[in-house]
Amino acid sequence: MAGPVPYLGNPQKTIEILNKYRFVFQKKYGQNFLIDCHVLEKIIRAAEITEEDYVVEIGPGIGTMTQYLASAAGGVAAIEIDRALIPILQDTLSGYDNVDIIHEDVLKMDLRRLAEEKNGGRPIKVVANLPYYITTPIIMGLFEKHVPLSSITVMVQKEVADRMQAGPGSKDYGALSLAVQYYAMPYVAANVPPNCFMPRPGVGSAVIRLGTYAEPPVKVTDEELLFAVIRASFNQRRKTLQNGLAHVQKLGISKEQTAQILREMGLSESIRGEAMTLQQFAEFTDRAVGLRQA
Ligand code: SAM
Repeated sequence: MAGPVPYLGNPQKTIEILNKYRFVFQKKYGQNFLIDCHVLEKIIRAAEITEEDYVVEIGPGIGTMTQYLASAAGGVAAIEIDRALIPILQDTLSGYDNVDIIHEDVLKMDLRRLAEEKNGGRPIKVVANLPYYITTPIIMGLFEKHVPLSSITVMVQKEVADRMQAGPGSKDYGALSLAVQYYAMPYVAANVPPNCFMPRPGVGSAVIRLGTYAEPPVKVTDEELLFAVIRASFNQRRKTLQNGLAHVQKLGISKEQTAQILREMGLSESIRGEAMTLQQFAEFTDRAVGLRQA
């Protein structure tokens, strides 16, 4: 174990630090700090952190989870947007020599470059109690920018964890489910009630682990087009696929051709996106490309 034993992760210590620095919570940054050491241990276990790992933590707050990560991992980059937290992090993490505190907006960072510089381009692990207002852009950014990743283990809103795991026919199934499942295998490691945070969020939370695939589970010639089709299909979820895709210029096929492909695939012409699997979306997109080129 590297560095001192983590001492944050309980209400008393958290309040002590907050008072020492007269810290004022910024609602706009989605600040809900973890104050339960059992939850922190569960996150570290779910992420399977070893000394071989380089971990990127998004939003370290006062450094609570960072202490646990630094104790278990080879190296940690802690990326925090709130300037007021930087001196606090320098204090709470002063005993660890394997942490880089980075004052940045994670959405503006080139994490591929960070992985290159800090981990020689080898896959990194992302572990975070995410700011809920930007959960989707953070996760989609990691996937779409092809940051080398072995896993993402994050605290998210319970409802978002449900969406990530959902399959066809469920009310939670949507563009996020398909995008996540194209890149990774989701697994909920823990449900976390509001009293594990300070201040308490208004919603339940869950720790979800996304184990990234070396190769996506479906093959498709135009990945970008696949996601344009998926997004359009769920934009108005009550629309049939034919109507939902009618205005997707990029697709370059007519409504009649959409119906033709659905027939060829043995699907109903009135099928909705919410009933289609990832495999079917991929096949549909490939057939559309084929038809366009014919
Ligand atoms: N990891 C800490 C914990 O568990 O106690 C804090 C988690 S809190 C839910 C989210 C953290 O993300 C806050 O510290 C917040 O300031 C930070 N944050 C919000 N938006 C961010 C952004 N765009 N880039 C980096 N950090 C951000």
